[in-house]
Amino acid sequence: MKTSTRCVHLEENGDPYEAISPPIYQTATFRQASACEFGEYDYTRTANPTRTLLEHKLAALEDGGYACAFASGMAAITALTRTLEIGDHIIAGNDLYGGTVRLLDRVLSRSGIYVNYVDATDLNEVRAGLNSRTKLVLIETPTNPLLRIADIAALAELAHSVGAILAVDNSMLSPCFQQPLALGADVVIHSATKFLCGHSDVTGGVLITNDAKLDRELRFQQNAEGAGLPPFDSWLLLRGVKTLVVRAERQNTSAKAIARFLSEHPVVEQVYYPGLTSHLDHELHRQQASGDGAVISFTTGDAAISQRIVSSTRLFSIAVSFGSVNSVISLPCAMSHASIPDSLRDRLAPPRDLVRVSVGIEDVGDLIDDISHALETALARQPAACGKSYLHDAPRRPLAGLL
Ligand code: PLP
Repeated sequence: MKTSTRCVHLEENGDPYEAISPPIYQTATFRQASACEFGEYDYTRTANPTRTLLEHKLAALEDGGYACAFASGMAAITALTRTLEIGDHIIAGNDLYGGTVRLLDRVLSRSGIYVNYVDATDLNEVRAGLNSRTKLVLIETPTNPLLRIADIAALAELAHSVGAILAVDNSMLSPCFQQPLALGADVVIHSATKFLCGHSDVTGGVLITNDAKLDRELRFQQNAEGAGLPPFDSWLLLRGVKTLVVRAERQNTSAKAIARFLSEHPVVEQVYYPGLTSHLDHELHRQQASGDGAVISFTTGDAAISQRIVSSTRLFSIAVSFGSVNSVISLPCAMSHASIPDSLRDRLAPPRDLVRVSVGIEDVGDLIDDISHALETALARQPAACGKSYLHDAPRRPLAGLL
């Protein structure tokens, strides 16, 4: 079955009434026949039928054997890092979601696990960073927010050469356009909050693998730490995934048109979108992905102009996250990536003038008009009063570190 068919079907849920939409098992506990006899389910923290259904579906979409669903993308990544031990080493890409950097730098360091950040698009740099304690190579491709592309097959080979596993965060493309397990990755990560959900109404995360032993460890963590995705959120995700392909294809087509529009606009300095032939890694991207996604980043060369663009759109809401039916615009430096610790900002924070948009399913002509209007307004208008502190981190906005 093709992905679009899998998105809609694959729901043999065992419901005696043959409901087309699966039931929500909104229960914490399941009755047992006796104290020593356990049914398939006993407690929802451990497992729940609605979550199981979702996990089977997400595993199938990535052509994986197993999936574990968590309460957020960060909970999923945390569970993965729990498989490491004190003294172990992680190689991580140097363009990652800010919350992932915060976890690696400020939480894992307390567990005696150390992390090196490398340019994952440079295989020599990755090779030089590996050592006998490296247990995990963790990358995004395309990366958030610079949309760089790393060679999944080559990185899997490098990771395996030292006995490490390769985990690929596939949130930017979804299984609709890229399937990292087929390219040699050991684990696929999703912030299911993004394209899998698609409606900005659930936070969720998933880890998908073909490795039964690793899956057992992840499932143990899911139960032990209690971060599994609740039943109602699992059901919302099951519903969201049904339309994944139609949403993603529409968003992909519109994003390409918007990327082209931006790349021809005089206010824009540089556009980052892997579907453009001008993108540094376009050829590699074509080899490993069948679509380009809905996220575009661009610079203007002037942080104040970029901030005014973000403030001037009407259809693109100012909001973090991406992949939903509604278009959003953000300044990653001040929003999604504000949580990058100060000590790493010089190396890992996105440029201050970088604007990121996630293209939704609205009419593409309306979206281009909106961006066009925002670009013109940004040139014409005076800087907003809060502009400087917003962009220069001093003083920090109180909420910034929490995003
Ligand atoms: N991975 C990527 C690429 C992300 O962009 C995000 C969040 O924006 C996450 C992981 C974390 O996911 P969540 O926000 O669902 O915890």
